[in-house]
Amino acid sequence: MSQRYTLYKMFHFTEKLDSLPLTCSRLLPPVHVRIKPTNVCAHRCYYCAYRVDNLQLGTQMDARDQIPAIKMFEILEDLDEMGVQALTFSGGGDPFYYKPLLSMLKWLAGSSIRFASLTNGAKLEGELAEMFSSHGTWLRVSIDGWDDESYACYRGVRVGAFTRLMNNLAAFARLGGRCHLGVSLIVDRLNVTHIGGLIERLHDIGVESIKVSPCVISNSGQENNAYHALLFDLVQEEVDRMSTQLGKDSIEVFNAFHRFDDKFDKTYDWCPYQQILTVIGADLNVYTCQDKAYTNHGRLGSIREMRFKELWFESKAKFFRVRPGLHCCHHCVANQKNLALIEYLGNEPEHQYFV
Ligand code: SF4
Ligand code: SF4
Repeated sequence: MSQRYTLYKMFHFTEKLDSLPLTCSRLLPPVHVRIKPTNVCAHRCYYCAYRVDNLQLGTQMDARDQIPAIKMFEILEDLDEMGVQALTFSGGGDPFYYKPLLSMLKWLAGSSIRFASLTNGAKLEGELAEMFSSHGTWLRVSIDGWDDESYACYRGVRVGAFTRLMNNLAAFARLGGRCHLGVSLIVDRLNVTHIGGLIERLHDIGVESIKVSPCVISNSGQENNAYHALLFDLVQEEVDRMSTQLGKDSIEVFNAFHRFDDKFDKTYDWCPYQQILTVIGADLNVYTCQDKAYTNHGRLGSIREMRFKELWFESKAKFFRVRPGLHCCHHCVANQKNLALIEYLGNEPEHQYFV
């Protein structure tokens, strides 16, 4: 079975990889861009890293920010011209609350840029759902509660929102388009005993893959591990049980419920991955990654007064300002990828042939 979640996708882009070090004079466009079109979201998940004070993400996020439509289309034109391969809409807020999204999707459908989105699924309906179904590559909906009451508790939404979400997902699956429908199942101590039932229900309504992840409850790896310590085995057992029961060919259940690094210290002093996947915030700043979005250290520059392509190509030095060993002692989604890249790029040339 081909894999969607793998560390090694980046090794398909060897020209890009070889251009990453500062010693290389070439600067190529990012392969993949994440755009946060809006910081607006009607949900209030208790663990939302952008909305609670005890988590690292987004310390400078303004929840009202949105990218003006005219600027958004300028960005899309730049991405297309630069040869960016893929675009993911993410939060900040929920991309489906961004009013120009439908016209953007129509524009993207006529370009060669693949697109995908993260969403809470509340607005996955009508023409937006149809456009995604026909032209999107994947869609991932975050879920935690297992029924109307628990879902309302997790997210500060009205009782009934869970039922509507299940209806939206089922209707999306029935559209039968090319877009892969996935769920990100966020697990904590409250819902851990319900994940088997939830996986079965999602399978029955046509969800194609489920990524099971631990709820991040703290900036400290040790605190996260202590909170989840009793859950690791339980989750693995449920994932194995459901994969066997439902059949690996009918649904992919990916267990990302692993221990956090005890320490978030970094042993390297440059971050190659930010040149492969970069982030554009709703505040019109470009950031190194999602972990440093809406922070000063993560800011590569502003595109308020200039085009994205101008900022990107204006200098290579900006990609070396962040010193992970100094500035990134927190959760980093790209840590394993950076470690692999630094080893790959640090290989002694004359010894490469002795494979
Ligand atoms: S749906 Fe996403 S952006 Fe909205 S509150 Fe929940 S985690 Fe935050
Ligand atoms: S090392 Fe990680 S946290 Fe730091 S800038 Fe790079 S991707 Fe972001």
